[in-house]
Order: sequence, then structure tokens, then C-alpha cells
Amino acid sequence: MGRTSKDKRDVYYRLAKENGWRARSAFKLLQLDEEFQLFQGVTRAVDLCAAPGGWSQVLSQKTGGQEGGQVLAVDLQAMAPLPGVTQIQGDITQLSTAKEIIQHFQGCPADLVVCDGAPDVTGLHDVDEYMQAQLLLAALNIATHVLKPGGCFVAKIFRGRDVTLLYSQLRIFFSSVLCAKPKSSRNSSIEAFAVCQGYDPPEGFKPDLSKPLLDHSYDPDFNQLDGPTRVIVPFVTCGDLSAYDSDCSYPLDLQDGSKYRYTPPTQPPISPPYQEACTLKKMGRLAKEVRPEDGPISRAATMPQ
Ligand code: SAM
Repeated sequence: MGRTSKDKRDVYYRLAKENGWRARSAFKLLQLDEEFQLFQGVTRAVDLCAAPGGWSQVLSQKTGGQEGGQVLAVDLQAMAPLPGVTQIQGDITQLSTAKEIIQHFQGCPADLVVCDGAPDVTGLHDVDEYMQAQLLLAALNIATHVLKPGGCFVAKIFRGRDVTLLYSQLRIFFSSVLCAKPKSSRNSSIEAFAVCQGYDPPEGFKPDLSKPLLDHSYDPDFNQLDGPTRVIVPFVTCGDLSAYDSDCSYPLDLQDGSKYRYTPPTQPPISPPYQEACTLKKMGRLAKEVRPEDGPISRAATMPQ
């Protein structure tokens, strides 16, 4: 497979490079904004799980941020710098990272919190959905500390079996909760985005980092899934209907008549988790399966000293 094959198979990947976005996911946020006008009046924003920085680029542009950045980007992975974006490298499910983020907004709350976080999927759907829900809840918990009243929270959600429980929990804090699927998000993917507008926590609610939101003892009345408290959220697709279909392959010369030229990625990851494997592969020292006659498969490789 040549380097153009991904450009053919994934038109948003290609367009991201051609438009200077670090990741194709930038289009998801832009299409969500087309539908929900997320950036109206936004000057301070938090981008949780931000690497390699596509959403941060969009936020930085939309908040007019250059120097003295009003966007805070957080990720486990290191990210190349962006104008107007302050970075924290850390795990959003860790108390220490949450505290650092909250400190940043002390006395000056954020207008918008977004989270495009995704765990490394295992293929075991229940496990993946659970992990995704934990990320979303960690992001929500942080949002309850830093969002201004009326503020907005947007988070990736997996539409799995227990998604209504998540919706119920989001509805506790926001006057409007919708589930949105941008055109650039593949139909074949379980991913969608919870768009929560009008931050309005229940009276007397005190944000508390020690309170796991999925814990049923938090407030049983809010966690009911049956009866009058059951929450059914509207499902909305967004992005121009004539926009490219993310599940289709397109010819390299697109309809606009322009001739295709290969564009390298805008900003390759600066310290990707697979770097060690690449180094080993180049040196011919990547783990090889060792198959003894009847024994278990083991792997042998050493990192060069
Ligand atoms: N929105 C990003 C963009 O436009 O470039 C893409 C985000 S990517 C789909 C998901 C990110 O979630 C990864 O960079 C990963 O490191 C991050 N992530 C996953 N779990 C995390 C955690 N517990 N804390 C912080 N970041 C996390």
C-alpha cells in the first residue's frame, strides 16, 4: 500500500492535512459547531484529551487566541506547542491532573469544556464502553469545577448499552443534552458526541473530586433509568448533508477539479507510544513470536541500551 492509499480511503484524513489540521477530528468539532454554535462568545476553553491537537487548533482560532492563550489542552501524551494554547501533560482521571486544571481556572471560569478522549480500544465492547464512560465522567467532574453557569460541555460518547445512564447523569448538570453525530465521524463507529448546553447544577451541588459520579450512592434519585426520570436524548446528525461521507473512498482528484498532490501530516506526534516499537523494528530487534512445540507463545525483544 502506497502513502496515497489512506488519502483515498479517508477523505477527512486527507483534507485535514491539506487544511493544516493536525488531526481529521478537527472536522468533527467544526461540524458540531455548525449545528450548535458552540463557540459563540467563548474566550476560555478546556480541551481534555487533546493530542495531537486538532481540536486545540480549532479552539485557538475560534477564541482568537494568539499570545496569552485562553485554551488549556490536557493529554497523557506530549503535544507540539500551539499559539494561544497552554498545555498540561497528565491523566484526566487522576486527582493531581484534575487539581492542576482547576487551579488554572480559579476565579475565572471556562465557557466551554470539550473532551475527545478515547481509550485504547480492546475490541471487547463492554470493556471499551466502560473505559470510555470513565473518561467522560472524569471530564464531567472536571467540568463541574471549571465551567461558568450556562457553559457548554461536549464529550465523545460510545452509544453502548448503558449510555442512558450517562445521559441521566449529564442531564443533572445541563439544561439541554443531545447526542450528535458529525458527518466526519464514521457511521460504522459507535462514537458520537454528547452536546450539553446550559450548565446549571442542582441547587446546593458542591463540586467534589472525591465523588465518583457513577457511584449509585451519589444520589439514587438521579440515577433512575425507568419511570419519569428516564432520560431520552434527541439524536442529531450534523455537518452539511452534501459534505464528504466519512465511510466512502474518493478518487484522488476530487470534484473541485484540483489536481491531487500528496501532503505530509501537519504535525506528526512528537512522542508517540509506538516510538519504541518503531526503533526496535528499524534495528531488526522487534519482538518475534517464539513458538515452542507445545508451549505457550512468548515474545523476545530487548530495547537497546
Ligand atoms: N481531539 C484530538 C485532536 O483533535 O487532535 C484527538 C484526541 S484522540 C482521539 C484521543 C486522545 O485521548 C489521545 O491523545 C489519548 O492520549 C487521550 N487520552 C486517553 N485517555 C486519557 C486520559 N486518561 N487522560 C488524558 N488523555 C487521555
